[in-house]
Amino acid sequence: MTVTADPGSYDLDALRSRVLPHDEGAVDDSIPSLAAADPRLCAIALALPDGTVRGSSHSDTAFTMQSSVKPFLFALALLDTDGDALHRVGIEPTGEAFDAIKLESGTGRPPNPMVNAGALLTASLVDGDDGKARSNRILQGLSAFAGRPLEIDERTAEEEREHGERNHALAHLMRAEDTLHVTADDAVEVYGRACAVLVDVEALAVMGATLALGGVNPVTRERVLPASVARDVVSVMATCGVYDGSGTWMRRVGVPAKSSVSGAVVLAAPRTLGAAVLSPPLDDQGTSVRGRIASEVLSDDLGLHVFAT
Ligand code: GLN
Repeated sequence: MTVTADPGSYDLDALRSRVLPHDEGAVDDSIPSLAAADPRLCAIALALPDGTVRGSSHSDTAFTMQSSVKPFLFALALLDTDGDALHRVGIEPTGEAFDAIKLESGTGRPPNPMVNAGALLTASLVDGDDGKARSNRILQGLSAFAGRPLEIDERTAEEEREHGERNHALAHLMRAEDTLHVTADDAVEVYGRACAVLVDVEALAVMGATLALGGVNPVTRERVLPASVARDVVSVMATCGVYDGSGTWMRRVGVPAKSSVSGAVVLAAPRTLGAAVLSPPLDDQGTSVRGRIASEVLSDDLGLHVFAT
């Protein structure tokens, strides 16, 4: 029989040492600030229902959220549109890469909120009269998830703006389909700034925990979103969060999660905890190699697989 470890005393540095020798994968080179990341970097954190946040060494290393922001953009869009965002974006997995130039056939909507097309749209649905106001609202909303004020890395935001050709293509395609109601420039700018929000694994674990625990931030005790919205977001993370690797992830890790090109992975283990791993080298599907391995071990050791009996 497998003995389940206690997350309150689980040795995160031992887990870090265990995954560190895995040096497969490649650091993302889509923008200079991501390409400059240290491939040996690795940090892991857990956020528990009693508000305890535990991190391995290097857990105060700052990194940009990139696609790990997508579940939270979806949450904010659902909040600010009173659920209407659910009709504006699909929720089916694509089996394709995160930046595939493709919309849902028949509707012209983005396939789901976890791919770039979907996140460009959800970021555009957040409250605010213009791009600047929406970006501020997103930063304030993300800070409530993290339980502390977050900031944008302006250099990364600038690079997202300069190198966002595929995001521009997606935004224009949605304009052509009449599914995006802000300008393409505006959508790319606001989404790019959201990707450039700085966190560390401890903040990201608290964000994951807030989703996992029905919308209440375990550290601040603030209800950030209704339980029904948290449930919708976590459901879509489970089916679409790791792009075309979501099926394998669900079978093996069994915890709803979101990957990103900075090498961050955020996990939301329903009713149990939030977790985050950072390690920049990515596999072919854009998921952190050490992030995946650490998540597998964590799931096994802490008994997190949602379908395990
Ligand atoms: N900023 C990146 C992009 O827009 C985020 C992609 C990712 O993390 N998978 O392509």
